[in-house]
Amino acid sequence: MSGRKRVPLADRVAEAADAALAARHFVSAIDILLGIGWLEFQAVERWRRGEIDCLEEAVRTNLPRISEAMKLFRGWAMARGLLASETAYVARTPQRQVLRFSVSGHPAIEASYRTHWVSPELSEKKRERLAEKAGLAPELVAILPLNSAWTCHRCGGTGDLLKMETPGPVCLRCVGLDDLAFLPAGDALLTRRAKAKSARHAVVVRFSRTRGRYERQGLLVEPQALAQVQRDLVR
Ligand SMILES: [Zn+2]
Repeated sequence: MSGRKRVPLADRVAEAADAALAARHFVSAIDILLGIGWLEFQAVERWRRGEIDCLEEAVRTNLPRISEAMKLFRGWAMARGLLASETAYVARTPQRQVLRFSVSGHPAIEASYRTHWVSPELSEKKRERLAEKAGLAPELVAILPLNSAWTCHRCGGTGDLLKMETPGPVCLRCVGLDDLAFLPAGDALLTRRAKAKSARHAVVVRFSRTRGRYERQGLLVEPQALAQVQRDLVR
């Protein structure tokens, strides 16, 4: 490692978990692995299509380290008073086979990966609806940084929004999301439709110093999709 101070794994897990919770009111193991940069979004997509035997194969670290992160995640969720909800993950194939997470396939490990941690602030009805979106695709989370003086670890550039990866923040240009348009939160109908029409999207969160947690700011969607939905709503 160069002179850069290493951020402890517990802090990285908590940061990823906080951002994911703000983005959609629950957190999954996949959100953590994505959020700390051990897993690529594209790999999760391939796994969901049944092209990878087990998710751990695509995680860029060793098994003891993964299990340490999962233990930290569980501790974080329990400390927050989140509710555990086991969620079915099935492949997006005609067979809809159950997706495997771990190399070992051990039932307890599989169950811990499948467990989503849900905010108790949600009503029971909303929690049920979340559970129904079984095996829901993970959300990409983009962070609106409080401090604008940051440097992309890949290209040395900067930008309005960033995504966290293991070596540090990365700009949206480097992850191929810089063409997306920002849609501020507030209009539920517009948001829902734009998200459905857009092939790619990311949730934008920002840390609130006063509340001490990340809060959802809006969505990044494809500009063509947004324009089309806006036109349809005017009509
Ligand atoms: Zn960059």
